[in-house]
Amino acid sequence: MRPVPVILLLACGVLFAGAPMAMAWSPAPPSDKSSGDKTSGDKGSAAGKAKDGDEDDDQPDLPTALPEGAVVPEAVTVPPVRADVFAGRATALGRMAQCPKCSGSGVKVTRHRESQGHMKNPKITETKDDCPECRGIGICPNPGRVSPVLDSFVALLGALPEDAPTTPKQLDKARQALERLGATGDLVAEVTEEDGTSVAAERIPRKGSALAVTGIVGSPILAAGGMRLFPVQVEGRAVVLLRAPMINAAPPKGRVFAGGVCAGALENAAWRWGKSAVLDLGFMVPWKDAPYKGAADADGDGKPDAAPASGSGK
Ligand SMILES: [Zn+2]
Repeated sequence: MRPVPVILLLACGVLFAGAPMAMAWSPAPPSDKSSGDKTSGDKGSAAGKAKDGDEDDDQPDLPTALPEGAVVPEAVTVPPVRADVFAGRATALGRMAQCPKCSGSGVKVTRHRESQGHMKNPKITETKDDCPECRGIGICPNPGRVSPVLDSFVALLGALPEDAPTTPKQLDKARQALERLGATGDLVAEVTEEDGTSVAAERIPRKGSALAVTGIVGSPILAAGGMRLFPVQVEGRAVVLLRAPMINAAPPKGRVFAGGVCAGALENAAWRWGKSAVLDLGFMVPWKDAPYKGAADADGDGKPDAAPASGSGK
């Protein structure tokens, strides 16, 4: 009888050790390249029993395992930054996402002072209208202003000293600002469009640069050493992998706004998602639909500037 190849045993050990960690773990798909798969028959039954993970039918376009032989780039680090610098940047990000005219309320309050005949007891009434700048949405209508602030903020996210007593509070503040931005729907989609296009075109940014995208998140992928990578699908194909985000306030599946510092591309990965950027020290928050209607009335005709018509019109 032939001895069971050591490699196969090791592989099983890794899979079993990792399995309890994953919420929706599913076995790696059979690979034609894998030489270990040649061992058939009774010796393979243990590996077969591992197939009890959730079926991922509802997310067929997201990877559940790294391709064989893929090399995850080393984690990046960023130089530490003072808490007040960080707080200032988080505040700026929060402000950027809100309309400067109405401070995000979406309401324009006008006070009227009615003097009724005599000057005593003037009656003051208020009327509330939609803010003319943001048309009642409360969101800054300018992706071009938000984008650089977001970039400089993302680069700082992992720069807080881990052991500082104020760090949890600062991260909470950052989470709130990011969640607010993630809730702007189309605005955050516009802000992240350039990065998303780069990633989809397999132009992976330089190591150390900030990257933010909107997309669909899948179940975390387990990699060597217990590392967890969250796949975020961008523009229908490309996948960005987030390694242990600093802030994870996102739902386990669905639309997210995510970003981090680029560690490089997943190397040696021959899979259908193309070149994938691996991000460190990042964040993941919900990406919601919101009534952002594009830049407010750029042509000055008093009507909201409509998005370009899609589909079958002339
Ligand atoms: Zn406003």
